[in-house]
Amino acid sequence: MGRVAAYIGIGSNVGDRRDFCSRALGLLGLLPESALTAYSSTYETQPVGDVGGPFLNLVAEVQTGLEPRRLLAILQETEQGLGRDAERRAGPRTLDLDLLLYGDRVINEEGVLVVPHPRLHLRRFVLTPLAELAPTRRHPTLHHTMAELLSSLQDPHEVRRVDDPVVPWIRPAGRCGLAGM
Ligand code: ADP
Ligand code: MG
Repeated sequence: MGRVAAYIGIGSNVGDRRDFCSRALGLLGLLPESALTAYSSTYETQPVGDVGGPFLNLVAEVQTGLEPRRLLAILQETEQGLGRDAERRAGPRTLDLDLLLYGDRVINEEGVLVVPHPRLHLRRFVLTPLAELAPTRRHPTLHHTMAELLSSLQDPHEVRRVDDPVVPWIRPAGRCGLAGM
């Protein structure tokens, strides 16, 4: 079966942010029918809205044979397993995992799964790591590349690359690593 390049946004702004991101990244390397093929630099980012302190954010690329709904379900189990409080949506979060892109697929299952992620093109904390990994990939409905979306972005929130990047807690099989290194 063919595999599809999926991009997953990882964010944390509570507790040991680096450890939560590292665990999430390592678990993406353990997904069935999948390989973790790349991950971005790590960024410290100003929170958007009243959601607590600064985040660590990065984006992972996974080549996967999992269907998008199944992948989302696993991402949600991972969030819960790593302690996110499901009662407090939009509050501070130990771990947020978003399915940003799933190949060129456009999915509109209202309230359940929307791909491309509906706020992807509006958020510097998503587009900066995503454009680092996939600068020439085109947004399936807006048709601009990720690099173009980033360069025309208005979002004033600060995004700063950190010197000491998150790495997976377990070394993924195959070739994988920080973009641009
Ligand atoms: P945020 O968009 O700020 O990350 P939440 O993580 O709190 O918001 O939203 C989770 C909800 O969004 C879940 O109910 C999930 O089903 C839904 N959702 C819709 N599309 C996606 C997607 N592409 N990735 C992750 N969650 C999604
Ligand atoms: Mg989310």
